[in-house]
Amino acid sequence: MPTSVANRFLLLYGSQTGQAKAIAEEIAEKAGDQNLHADIHCLSLTEKKFFIEREKCVVIITSTTGDGEPPDTALKFVRRLRKKTLPDDYLSHLNYALLGLGDSNYTNFCNCGKSLDKRLQDLGAKRFYDSGWADDAVGLEVAVEPWLDGLWSALKRFLKLPGAEHGGGDADAIMTENKEMINGDSRLNGSTVIENGNKSRSADTQSVHSISNTIPVLTKDLTNGNNQNNLNNSNSAESSVPVCDINQSDCNNSSSHLEQTSSSEKHTDLLVKTLNGTKDNKSNESSMEEKTEASVKVSLPPLSESTLTVPLLPPPFLKIEYNQEQSIDVCDLPRQNDYDFPSAATPVTMATVSDIKTLTSDTAVKKAIFVELDITGSGINYQPGDAISIICPNDTNEVETLLDRLGVLEQIDSCLKILVIEITKKRNASIPKFVSEVSTLRHIFTTCVDIREPPKKALLRVLVEYTSDDAEKRRLQELCSKQGNEDYARFIREPSLSILDILNNFSSCLPPVDRLIEHLPRLQPRPYSVCCSPLTSPGKISFVFNVVETTAECGRTYFRKGVCTGWLEGMSHSAKRDKQVQDTTEKEIVQGIKQLEVSDIKIPIFGRTNQSFHLPDDVTVPVILIGPGTGVAPFIGYLDHRGSQQEAQAETQFGETWLFYGCRHKDRDYIFREKIEHHVSTATLSNLLVSFSRDEQSADAPRYVQDNLRSHGAEIVSLIEEKGAIVYVCGDAKNMAKDVNQAFIDIFSQCKGISSDEARKLVMKLRLHRQYKEDVWT
Ligand code: FAD
Ligand code: NAP
Repeated sequence: MPTSVANRFLLLYGSQTGQAKAIAEEIAEKAGDQNLHADIHCLSLTEKKFFIEREKCVVIITSTTGDGEPPDTALKFVRRLRKKTLPDDYLSHLNYALLGLGDSNYTNFCNCGKSLDKRLQDLGAKRFYDSGWADDAVGLEVAVEPWLDGLWSALKRFLKLPGAEHGGGDADAIMTENKEMINGDSRLNGSTVIENGNKSRSADTQSVHSISNTIPVLTKDLTNGNNQNNLNNSNSAESSVPVCDINQSDCNNSSSHLEQTSSSEKHTDLLVKTLNGTKDNKSNESSMEEKTEASVKVSLPPLSESTLTVPLLPPPFLKIEYNQEQSIDVCDLPRQNDYDFPSAATPVTMATVSDIKTLTSDTAVKKAIFVELDITGSGINYQPGDAISIICPNDTNEVETLLDRLGVLEQIDSCLKILVIEITKKRNASIPKFVSEVSTLRHIFTTCVDIREPPKKALLRVLVEYTSDDAEKRRLQELCSKQGNEDYARFIREPSLSILDILNNFSSCLPPVDRLIEHLPRLQPRPYSVCCSPLTSPGKISFVFNVVETTAECGRTYFRKGVCTGWLEGMSHSAKRDKQVQDTTEKEIVQGIKQLEVSDIKIPIFGRTNQSFHLPDDVTVPVILIGPGTGVAPFIGYLDHRGSQQEAQAETQFGETWLFYGCRHKDRDYIFREKIEHHVSTATLSNLLVSFSRDEQSADAPRYVQDNLRSHGAEIVSLIEEKGAIVYVCGDAKNMAKDVNQAFIDIFSQCKGISSDEARKLVMKLRLHRQYKEDVWT
């Protein structure tokens, strides 16, 4: 019986996108180093692989999804523990540690972890270690790292094993076992860095702390010497057409999003503030001081002078063998090695693009594009309010530039085999499940791995090993160190630097491509709200999106578009060109200018699980819909649906339908205007309130959706309280959803003459009773 083993603990994870699972796997792997044994399982395997009621010591890592719901994989486990018939002492023998993952941009932050924590307590279980709440809005690692550090000693203390008193965290392991404690002045040994650097480490350290007027020393231009020769690409908007299947897209050039590095970036040198007493430097001191600002490349005291504690170096575990002779047709390879998509409710299907068009004017701040897909025979059934997921590839040009930077461009289409290094020190080493064993670099980097996610600290730690310049090495060490947490968040996470940005910023860093395959996360599908109804568009599904554009600044070394929205936008260009060609001459078509019909384009999609942002079944219930920008998408589906139902049930008195919509300019980005106005004319939409945030208008005109909400406060309160109206909010989570929530609190407080606190509780109650629903995203 595993429970009889003194050093064993049960390790459970509930994961939606794989983050909780990755953390659990990391714990399982490191447990061995701590002389512990983790019996690791997904929460979905409850009563199959584990029985919580038979356990004594458990560690649970769980994420939260949607509007505070458990991940799909945790549903069964959570439901089981929620049963009201369970006695209060049901888990009184159980001791646990729990780490919840969430995103504070959403109202119910870490709701799954928090409710589970409370339920375990209610059932008599005891915490042997404080619960941790990790926030994706500021970077999960901020809370995860210290929580993991303390976990080992807590486990050992609880299991009465030796070693608990030493903490046993990663940091200690580094300092005592691996001696990866890096002193702030280690770069002084580098001859290229400091001319007058004192060779004595201890003397330097003393000086660093005793002399106050330190002088920044210009060391080396990090942006030079980068071997890139194809960064000089044009903007994606005009480049060639992306083709259909994600598997095929890596055999064709898709849109290029890379633009030349901005000049301001190019001339930002690495400035290392350190000790130097020469006259020349002193004379430059004041002007240099003013210019010196920390950045991804520039380090300032105290960090630049700090002793660092860096993560353990992850052992290499994969190697690539190329076989130039063997040919391979990547179009035949299974998509992401046929590895399951956790939120897929249907198999992946290739949907034909039947329409794609821009809804906004050329002068709109953001470009909104509408896509209609033919899903006949796909098996995808949907309701208005559901979302579909789109499996998108990375940009071809970015992939080529990255592989060029890694020095493997020549092998990009060579057949390769990935092998696990036999003598690796990594426990349970295996090829990532979403990568085929036999493949090509182009296929892997285009369709399997995410090359945009900011590199995790473990990857930065690996990069240190492949960086030759001492100053760069030191800065990478800082960025992955405990002491560098703030710099990591500020200069890597917040500006969302990609792996290519990091390599561009640290030109002496040249990691083998194998190391990147070990560490890059899986390329995730992107969800989009459906903006139609199966009643009015049978066999079709449509959605609308804004093209995400990110400029080259704050450490980002190239302009780019969103992975999925940039890819889809490329299709809209192809469609436009086709139309022009159709309108011109037959000769051009024969000459091959006409490359692709819109109906030739197919994209891989799947239906999503766990969706509940639906209209009430009872059509007499009023609905209040709030969706500025593309947040209006699901409500277009609602209106089409209700319109069709109204036609079919002419006798029924339908509930009122209010729509609060907002955009920037009436003439530039009022998307679906005709359709919305049509629904007003047929009385499907009883009240339409639109706000324009950037049009010139009188001072008291509503700017945002919440301004219109406030001016109709009394009617809204009466609709909700007296007629049981349901509120739906869709769109931006970061600002809009929070401000709308506050507007409801203010309205309730004002109209009912209650305090803000009472009004807040009232809105919370509406949420709990599913009378206030959100479908929002950051
Ligand atoms: P990505 O390549 O994923 O880039 C977006 C990311 O880039 C940001 O999250 C951020 O990390 C980074 N980034 C971008 N700009 C900056 C910057 N200036 N500074 C720092 N970082 C930056 N979207 C819609 O448009 N329409 C919808 O109907 C819709 N429905 C959704 C429904 C659901 C249930 C969910 C969860 C999301 C929905 N979204 C919708 C969002 C959509 O899934 C994608 O996230 C969005 O389209 C961006 O995808 P992308 O691949 O183009 O961008
Ligand atoms: P947007 O950028 O949010 O802008 C739409 C309008 O909202 C603009 O007029 C904007 O005004 C205004 N606005 C800005 N801040 C606001 C605030 N605090 N409160 C109220 N209104 C505010 O629109 P979008 O580009 O279409 O973005 C919508 C977001 O929702 C995207 O991130 C998209 O990915 C997401 N989305 C999610 C879902 C979903 O989860 N189901 C569905 C669709 C879209 P100004 O810019 O002038 O300030």
